Amino acid sequence: MSEKINVAEIFGSNVFDDSVMKARLPKAVYKDLKKTIENGTELNPAIADVVANEMKEWAIEKGATHFTHWFQPMTGVTAEKHDAFINPTGDGKVLLEFSGKELIKGEPDASSFPSGGLRATFEARGYTAWDCTSPAFIKETPNATILCIPTAFCSYKGEALDKKTPLLRSMQAIDIQAVRVLRALGDTEVTKVDTSVGPEQEYFIVDKEKYLKRKDLIFTGRTLFGAMPPKGQELDDHYFGTIKERIAGFMKELNVELWKLGITAKTQHNEVAPAQHELAPIYASNNVATDHNQLIMEVMKKVADRQGLVCLLHEKPFAGINGSGKHNNWSIVTNTGKNLLDPGDTPHENEQFLLFLAAIISAVDKHADLLRMSASTPGNDHRLGANEAPPAIISIFLGEQLEDVVKQLITVGEATSSKTGTPLASGVHTLPAFEKDATDRNRTSPFAFTGNKFEFRMVGSTQSISDPNVVLNTIVADELAEIADRLEKSDNVKMEAHEIVKELLTDHRRVIFNGNGYSDAWVEEAERRGLPNLKSMVDAIPSLVTDKAVEMFEKHGVYTKDELESRVEIMFENYSKVINIEALSTLDIAKKQIVPAVIKYQTSLAESINTIKAAADVDTSVQEELLASISANLKDLYGAIGELEAEEAKAQALEGDIPAQARYYHDVVFEGMNKVRKPADTLEMLVDKSAWPMPSYGDLLFEV
Ligand code: ADP
Ligand code: MG
Repeated sequence: MSEKINVAEIFGSNVFDDSVMKARLPKAVYKDLKKTIENGTELNPAIADVVANEMKEWAIEKGATHFTHWFQPMTGVTAEKHDAFINPTGDGKVLLEFSGKELIKGEPDASSFPSGGLRATFEARGYTAWDCTSPAFIKETPNATILCIPTAFCSYKGEALDKKTPLLRSMQAIDIQAVRVLRALGDTEVTKVDTSVGPEQEYFIVDKEKYLKRKDLIFTGRTLFGAMPPKGQELDDHYFGTIKERIAGFMKELNVELWKLGITAKTQHNEVAPAQHELAPIYASNNVATDHNQLIMEVMKKVADRQGLVCLLHEKPFAGINGSGKHNNWSIVTNTGKNLLDPGDTPHENEQFLLFLAAIISAVDKHADLLRMSASTPGNDHRLGANEAPPAIISIFLGEQLEDVVKQLITVGEATSSKTGTPLASGVHTLPAFEKDATDRNRTSPFAFTGNKFEFRMVGSTQSISDPNVVLNTIVADELAEIADRLEKSDNVKMEAHEIVKELLTDHRRVIFNGNGYSDAWVEEAERRGLPNLKSMVDAIPSLVTDKAVEMFEKHGVYTKDELESRVEIMFENYSKVINIEALSTLDIAKKQIVPAVIKYQTSLAESINTIKAAADVDTSVQEELLASISANLKDLYGAIGELEAEEAKAQALEGDIPAQARYYHDVVFEGMNKVRKPADTLEMLVDKSAWPMPSYGDLLFEV
C-alpha cells in the first residue's frame, strides 16, 4: 500500500501566495500589492519593506536561510545566486534581515550570461527586478531551503537579457489591444485581458546506471549512436498503457514536489514511445505558467535523480523513436472571467468570438515564419517535418464546426447555422448517451483549435514557453490593434466588425487546413498556397529581424531592433555550439569506445577462426564472412571519422561569421555526424552484445 498523501494540505505550502499575503500583510499593503498584481498598475515602492519583512519571516518559519532572485537568462534555463538573510550587529552576532530594496532589485554580475552583444563584458551591469505577478516560493532540497523571488533580468540600459521581460511586455501589449477591441464593441466591464496557458510536458525516463554508461546522453542529452531495437513503438502499446511501478513512484514524488510549489500538476500518462511520459498542469496566467513550466522541468530532473533514474527532456533522445514536444495551450481571458475563445453553442451568432478568431487566423498567417522560429531549437530540428510531429509548415486546424462557419462567411457573406454535436453512437444501450463535441481532434496540425483554446503543438520539450508565447501574444495584439483602429473610427460598429471578419477570413483562408498535416501531399499543397516551409532552425532564425517583424515588435514595445538582433546572434551561436558539442562527442565516442571495441572483437573472432581450424577441419565460412563484414564497416567508420574531423576543423575556422558558421554546422557537420553513425550502428548489430561498449536502445527504452 502506498502511503497516504494529504494533497489539500501540501498544495501551495511552499508558496507566498494570495492566501498567505492576505493573512500576513497589513490590509492596506495587501490591497496595494494586489492592485499591481491584478490590474497591472505600477508597484508602490513604499510597501516593499513591509512585504519583504513578512516574506522573510514566513520563509524562515519554513526553514529558509537564504533568498535568491530567480531569473531566466537567454540560456533557456533558470539562474539563481543565493544570499543569506544575515546582517552583522557589530557585537559578533547577526540579525536576519531582508529589505524592500533587496526584494525589488538585484544586481547579479551579468557578464557571463549570453547577451548577443547587448552588453560588452566591461559593461557587466545587469539588474533583476521583482515580478510580483508571479508568487515567491521556497525551493526545498535535502541540503538547502531557499526563498526564490521571480524576477526579470535587464541590462543597465533596460534592454531585456532574459525570457521573462519580453513575455511580460507581450502580455501588456495584448491586454491593451484586446481591451480596446472590447470597448469598441460596447463592453464597459472588462478592464484587463490576460492570456492563459497550459503547457503539456513530454519527457523520457531512463535508468541512471545505464545512462551513466552513455557518454552521448551525458554530454548532449540525446543518443548519437544506437541501432533500432527489435521492438519500437509499432504496437502502440505504450500510449496510455499501465504505468510501471518504478515510474509511478517517480510520478508520485514529482507530484508532491510540484504541488508544494503550487503547481497544478493534473494529468499524467504514458506517451507514444517506450519510456516516454507526459505531465500536464491546469492552465494559469501566461507568466505564471511559464515560471511553473521551468520549475516542472527542474523538479523532474531532480526527483528522477533521487530515484536512480534520469529524466531526458531532449526533443529527440532516440533516433527512429518519437521525440518529445510541449503542447502550448493558449487562450485569451478577461478579468471578468470570460474566455474570449469560447465559441458558445452557436459560434455563427457570436460576433465577438468570430472577431477574435479572425484576428488570430490573420495573425498566424501573416507571421507564420515567426511562429515557426519560436519553436526552433537544435533538438526540435529532429522533430519538425519528420513523421511524428507537426510539419515545419504552419497551418491552422479549426475543426468541422468552425470550418463550416468560416465557409459560410466567405462564400455567402453570412453565417446562418452552426453544426452541432450529435449523440455518441456506440451501439450499446447501457453506455451513457452524451453529446459528442462538435469537432473531432487533429493530431497532425501544428496550430489546432481545441474547443475553447488553441494548441500550438510545435514547441520543443526543452524550450522555455516564453518564446512561443511572446510571438503569439504580440502577433495577435498587432492584429487586434488594427481591428481596434477600424472599429473606433466606425459609426456602425456591428457592421464594421462583420466586414472585418469576412475580410480577414477571406484574405487568410489559405492558412486553414483540416487534413493530414503529416502527408507529402500537404507539403506540395502548402507550397501551392504560398505558405512558408522553414525546414530548420538555421532557416527560421532570420524571421526575427525581417522588416515586418521589427516594425511590429517595436510598435508594441515588446522588443527593440537591438534586442531582436541580439537574440538572432544568440540563437545562431547556440545552434553552432550545440552541434559542435555533438560532433566532438560523436568523434570521442567513435574513436575511444566504438573503434577499440570493434577491433577487440575482430581479434577474438580471428583467433577463434584459427583455433577452430587448428582443432578440426570444419567450415569457418560464417565466422569469416562476419569478420569480413565487420572489417568493411570498420573501414567505413574510420573514413567517416576522418571526414568529420576535417569538417569540424573547418567549422571552427568560421568563427567570426556567426550565421555562416551555423549554416555550415547544419549543412555539413550535422550530415558528417550521421555518416559516422551509420556504419557504427551496423557494427552494433554485428558485434557480440557483451563486447559493445554501451547499453543498447533496447536496454535504455525497455529496462527501466
Ligand atoms: P488534451 O486532451 O489536449 O490534453 P486538456 O483539456 O486536457 O486537453 O488540456 C490540455 C491542457 O490545456 C491543460 O494544461 C489544460 O489546463 C489546458 N487548457 C485547458 N483550457 C485552457 C484554456 N482555456 N487556456 C489555456 N489552456 C487551457
Ligand atoms: Mg494533449
